[in-house]
Amino acid sequence: MNKAFFLDRDGVVNYDVRYCHEPEKIELKPGFAEGLKALHEAGFLAVVITNQGGIALGMYEANAVHACHKRIQELLALWGEKIDGFYFCPHHQKVTGECSCRKPNPGMIFKAARDLDIDITSSYMIGDRISDLEAGRNAGCRQGFLVDSFYWDKHAPKARAAGYETAPTVLEAVQMVTSAGK
Ligand SMILES: [Zn+2]
Repeated sequence: MNKAFFLDRDGVVNYDVRYCHEPEKIELKPGFAEGLKALHEAGFLAVVITNQGGIALGMYEANAVHACHKRIQELLALWGEKIDGFYFCPHHQKVTGECSCRKPNPGMIFKAARDLDIDITSSYMIGDRISDLEAGRNAGCRQGFLVDSFYWDKHAPKARAAGYETAPTVLEAVQMVTSAGK
C-alpha cells in the first residue's frame, strides 16, 4: 500500500486569495515545491484535498477548479514535480446541506485512499486551518501539521492545544516526519 501527505490547497500549495478560481492567480507558496520533492523522495504520494464551496455558492464552476489544478501542475513541472491526485468538494452547507466530503468530514480522504491504495494510518495531513487537520484526524491519519498562512495567529495555538504539530512551511512539516525516520 502507499502512504501519502494529504494537502489542503489554498494557503498550503498556493497563496489563499479567497475562493481562488482564476489560474493566473495561482502562486506557489515558499517551501511547497521543496516539501513536495522531499515527501516524494521519502516515498510518499501527494494528494490535494480542497473544499470548493464556491461552486455550490455559484461563484464559479468545476471547470475553473480543474483549470487551477492544471496550472498548479504546470508550475510544479518547472521543479520536475507533480501532485499525484486532486480531490475537491463542490458542496456548501448553506446551499447543498451537509455532505460527507466537505472538510472536516473525511470523505475526500477516504475516496483518495481507495483510488490510490493509500494506508491512511501511515499518512499525514497538512493544512492551514483546524478543519483541515480535523479531516485528517477523522479519517485516521497519523498526524496533522498546521502551516503558516493568514489563519496562523488564530489557529496555531488551537492546533497545538488539540495535539497537532505546527510548522512554518510544508517543507518543514515534511522534514519533521522524514527526520523522525517514520
Ligand atoms: Zn462535499
